[in-house]
Amino acid sequence: MGQILLERQHVRGHQLGIAIAERFGMQFVSLDDFEPDPVALNLVPASAVQRLDVMPIAFAADEAVLVAVADPRDLLVLERLTRLIDRVVRAVVVTRDDLDELLARVGRIEPVLTGDGELELAGRRVPQDGRGDRPRSLVELGMGELARARLEAALRYAHGAILATGPPQSGKSTSLYAALALVSTDPDVMTLGELRDRSSLKIAIEAAFTGHLVLSSLNANSAAAAPARLAGMGIEPGLIASALDCVSSQRLARRLCGSCRRKAQVAGADVGSPGTAVVEIFEPAGCENCRGTGYRGWIGLFEVMTVSTQISALIQAGAAAKELAGVAVAEGMRTLLDDGLAKVRAGQTTLAEVTRVTG
Ligand SMILES: [Zn+2]
Repeated sequence: MGQILLERQHVRGHQLGIAIAERFGMQFVSLDDFEPDPVALNLVPASAVQRLDVMPIAFAADEAVLVAVADPRDLLVLERLTRLIDRVVRAVVVTRDDLDELLARVGRIEPVLTGDGELELAGRRVPQDGRGDRPRSLVELGMGELARARLEAALRYAHGAILATGPPQSGKSTSLYAALALVSTDPDVMTLGELRDRSSLKIAIEAAFTGHLVLSSLNANSAAAAPARLAGMGIEPGLIASALDCVSSQRLARRLCGSCRRKAQVAGADVGSPGTAVVEIFEPAGCENCRGTGYRGWIGLFEVMTVSTQISALIQAGAAAKELAGVAVAEGMRTLLDDGLAKVRAGQTTLAEVTRVTG
């Protein structure tokens, strides 16, 4: 009986929404059968969501942002939103219940990695890089102290863009959300999905220039390759140079099973220790703990490039990735390969794995 009443209320809510939309010459959207675009949801900082009482839910073909409203008479709130996100907005009508549910969902976004390696966002499961057994914090991911210190310094800076780069399936989202957990109380943090095109990139750059700390990801081969990728998407090198604080790059390598790994010896030169003739490392064996594979879980390999004054000047001048990498290394960056070799020497993974994922 209660259920039937609820259903009736639901239908009435819809009828009311449709009537309101008609009266104001707007479109009605039922969130029962419309899945909001996460990029649109992320346009508004979480701290402003409840205050605004409206929610961007999609992009129209003309790049206007479609904004869900329950009360189209509240023009002030739309104006505030336009100023906040600096985009053309178009209101669509949703029911009060739908909007409240959406606001509650988005207002408490706390991304959680689930056991099977999916990211749970706003109560919904967002398929991520699709591998099980994933680590959850930067330490668990295997990010070394120096790389972490660099990333944390950029996070403390509190405005500008921080990019996680890497190929698909390299755990970029995991890193971003682990990094996000380090930002304690700053309300103006904005996380964007992967920067795939000029329009998402423009949102990121604009946000970075309007006092937000932007965290996003990009498909690029190395930290030093990111600025050229962004320039290739049609953004001026000068803007990239000023917006970027820090770029990380990463790979996921299989982690040696601690129960069965066995000692092996290689020439120091093969594992980044040219001064040592023979270095003791480990190789995979196989046991029941690792289902005979010799590996269990994953470890991240990282490089973190801080956009220093010199690097910023090089980006602005359109320098090649190789030149940027050279300067970054001179300024103390450990490359993906060097980080991988250090993890081989530490017995965490193997030379074969590092070669596979960095090659
Ligand atoms: Zn094993």
